[in-house]
Amino acid sequence: MANRKILLSENETPDKWYNIVADMPNKPLPPLHPGTKEPIGPEALAPLFPMELIKQEVSADKWIDIPDEVVNIYSLWRPTPLYRAYNFEKMLDTPAKIYYKYEGVSPSGSHKPNTAVAQAYYNKQEGVKRITTETGAGQWGSALSFACNLFDIACEVYMVKISYEQKPYRKLMMNTWGADVIASPSDQTQAGREILNQDPNSPGSLGIAISEAVEKAAMDENTKYSLGSVLNHVLMHQTIVGQEALLQMEKAGDMPDIVIAPFGGGSNFAGLTFPFLRLNFDEGKSIRCIASEPASCPKLTRGVFRYDFGDTVGMTPLLPMYTLGHNFVPAPIHAGGLRYHGAGVVVSQLLKDKLIEAQSHDQLECFDVGVKFAKAEGIIPAPEANHGIATVVQEAMKCKEEGVSKTILFNLCGHGNFDMAAYEAYFNGGLVKHEVTTEDINASLAKLNTPEIN
Ligand SMILES: *Cc1c(COP(=O)(O)O)cnc(C)c1O
Repeated sequence: MANRKILLSENETPDKWYNIVADMPNKPLPPLHPGTKEPIGPEALAPLFPMELIKQEVSADKWIDIPDEVVNIYSLWRPTPLYRAYNFEKMLDTPAKIYYKYEGVSPSGSHKPNTAVAQAYYNKQEGVKRITTETGAGQWGSALSFACNLFDIACEVYMVKISYEQKPYRKLMMNTWGADVIASPSDQTQAGREILNQDPNSPGSLGIAISEAVEKAAMDENTKYSLGSVLNHVLMHQTIVGQEALLQMEKAGDMPDIVIAPFGGGSNFAGLTFPFLRLNFDEGKSIRCIASEPASCPKLTRGVFRYDFGDTVGMTPLLPMYTLGHNFVPAPIHAGGLRYHGAGVVVSQLLKDKLIEAQSHDQLECFDVGVKFAKAEGIIPAPEANHGIATVVQEAMKCKEEGVSKTILFNLCGHGNFDMAAYEAYFNGGLVKHEVTTEDINASLAKLNTPEIN
């Protein structure tokens, strides 16, 4: 048997991020001011983000150097391993070859520190003393807490109150790395106090937590705000994942026909797939890249491409993206990281131009394949990652039916060791099949009065 685990040495680690905007045939449309609906320039972001990240956000340079200090910190867990899933292939009885890139070896257990460390670094360079952010399930909050601690920056995490109460371990991880974790809505901001006045028992929402974190950053010049997905610079920082995977596939003497990743806002999908899409642009390859989303929050497969707010409250710039409408309330499925109404601008434009594909999967199907994967390969996947695995199984079964062998690569973007309550619900029969109805989607979209894109 050939190698199961394909490693890179530290000195083989890529030292640049790949910016796909340089290669896109249609560049992303500009963000619009939420009030005037006129295009806004990068300076509008200055109160919230350090200048260097704003430059990256609008950059058209194909390669951006990773600072030495960031490379050095990445080496705590990078390069991450790439595995050939021999046992899973055997279990599925498929002629397909299945590989996965494993990001669960990072300190916080997912791909998110790849951007958290970079963002903390640029904030430190510009003298920022404190970073605020929001977190739902806690993956992003823990990654940013870890990163801020390394740069001696204070970190303030507004955690959706219901998760704060139901997921004490993620909160304690953040505390261990020195962050302040505040249940949102809180009495520390105007936005939080208004919500609490209306409903003292509000369970909170990601939209409310964003409002609180943004308000805190906007009010103090030494405080900035940070996002863990969706934005161009976040997606770009994640391309370290795909660049490593490309080198590892070459080492394995193989090249994927299909690259698959779960999709929330687009960062782990972009991270793995963009360096392979570059081969389509630069070398005329035709590698298929598929984003896997939940059937209960299907913005890519059933949403519309138009301008919409990034948050629920309607404070952010209007972004051109696939969306279900910013008022869309996804069912409380057990893959918190995928419950977002919209999608990153760059990924949305690529989908619009048919350069990538999307698939949706029901949560029962996802846990079913996730448990199979855990039995075959040992690692218990994050519930988000199970969506990618569902697409892998679908493609592997197609190979079997058609009697062809294809090479499939997917992103195992995090482990599920802190998500056992979701697995418990699945084992107890507490999870139901859930697909959003067309009426629900149409009702949410009907409320949009944001500009259309023709
Ligand atoms: C946050 C998260 C996601 C969803 O975010 P993307 O930006 O789409 O990657 C998916 N999986 C895991 C494990 C996460 O922590």
